[in-house]
Amino acid sequence: MPAKKVCIVGSGNWGSSIAKIIGHNVKGSNRFNPMVNMWVYEEMIEGRKLTEIINTEHENVKYLPGHKLPKNVVAVPDITEAVKGANVLVFVVPHQFIGKLCDQMKPHVTEGTIGISLIKGVDEGPDGLKLISDIIREKLEVEVSVLMGANIANEVADEKFCETTIGAKNEANGQIFKELLQTPNFRITVVQESDTVELCGALKNIVAVGAGFCDGLGFGDNTKAASCGVADLITTCYGGRNRRVAEAFVRTAKSIEELEAEMLNGQKLQGPQTSAEVYKILKKKNMIDKFPLFVAVYQICFEGKEVKEFITCLQNHPEHM
Ligand code: NAD
Ligand code: 13P
Ligand code: CA
Repeated sequence: MPAKKVCIVGSGNWGSSIAKIIGHNVKGSNRFNPMVNMWVYEEMIEGRKLTEIINTEHENVKYLPGHKLPKNVVAVPDITEAVKGANVLVFVVPHQFIGKLCDQMKPHVTEGTIGISLIKGVDEGPDGLKLISDIIREKLEVEVSVLMGANIANEVADEKFCETTIGAKNEANGQIFKELLQTPNFRITVVQESDTVELCGALKNIVAVGAGFCDGLGFGDNTKAASCGVADLITTCYGGRNRRVAEAFVRTAKSIEELEAEMLNGQKLQGPQTSAEVYKILKKKNMIDKFPLFVAVYQICFEGKEVKEFITCLQNHPEHM
């Protein structure tokens, strides 16, 4: 079998951290080609192209400053160039950009290519909720696994120990991705329930926004925990960007969009948008009353609902009535 060529589609905070791992792991591997393409959404940084900076200084100075990327990771600004010859695709862009990117990639994706999505988000389709991995499957006709976990990008790049889960309907592909992505400090479990893994990864971002509201409103840890769950949820509710921006939303009275632009230097929040997709689905299915937290987050972010009323949604949770 010829060595598999990997293309990383995306180069934000998480994309760059994962590029660090992949670049390292493919070196000296029999299974993977040692050169990795990383598609970069081109932008100018102080008069220089980001791709040029990455390819000369081997650092994504905007999205993962302070970390060197392996030299065998090559930044490519043209998506069609980046995917040429690739048979392993790693998707790691904010979820709002995936559809258009897949359309651009389609003519260049060859048969037998496999993919893995690290994207946390959902879309809303005619039959209700649509997984991001399903968008990729349908548009590119490739087999898609997912990887989700309590994995704050900067901590992974710092090689601080964490765990993560690959959801792979195809077990053999799950093992290929484990070989590509596991390190001594990034431990992977492979399971077959891919949809569940993906949904948990996506929906926790909405809860993280709620956790930020709690902090901004000055509630205690008990209050915050009332909206909290396991691993990724806990991490995201303390250390994530969704939580941080939501806290600032309460304290400053600026809009989510303004704060995202001001605080994140181009990085993207997935929680508010995911709450909007989920809200549309719940509304269509007449299930608004069953998910008061998700609905309140949506209304506060997009419909001008007073954030002071956030806790009311939990006080009126159907489970408590
Ligand atoms: P990011 O939020 O750090 O950066 C935004 C990225 O989007 C940049 O690479 C930017 O160049 C790109 N971009 C901007 N405009 C674009 C456009 N029009 N078309 C295409 N790309 C555009 O990105 P990230 O942190 O790598 O997030 C990617 C996914 O990974 C998200 O779904 C996120 O939830 C998930 N994730 C992130 C983390 C984390 O800690 N950062 C951890 C786990 C999962
Ligand atoms: P934020 O996007 O809120 O930073 O969460 C990152 C994440 O998904 C950690 O697992
Ligand atoms: Ca949508």
